[in-house]
Amino acid sequence: MAKASDVTSPECSSCLNCLKACPRAGALTLKAVGRWDINPWLYPMLVVGTLCVAIIAANLTGHWQTAITYAEYAKLIPLADTLSH
Ligand code: SF4
Repeated sequence: MAKASDVTSPECSSCLNCLKACPRAGALTLKAVGRWDINPWLYPMLVVGTLCVAIIAANLTGHWQTAITYAEYAKLIPLADTLSH
């Protein structure tokens, strides 16, 4: 981390603990698309906001509801242990 210019590892979960733990203020920053600085306090709001927009869009376009009826669920739930992907 001390010599890297970017962290692009798929193992990075964007927890931002490295920003909090870094002893040198300003040495680490969070960037969007590798370009725009994002305030670490704004980041969780962007994640939650994006999720909310996706849920609202799915509801408005009819993609949030399933086509399976309650009667079909009632038939399938007892068989759940015998079903696989
Ligand atoms: S501390 Fe968190 S944000 Fe920083 S590199 Fe590790 S996983 Fe990614």
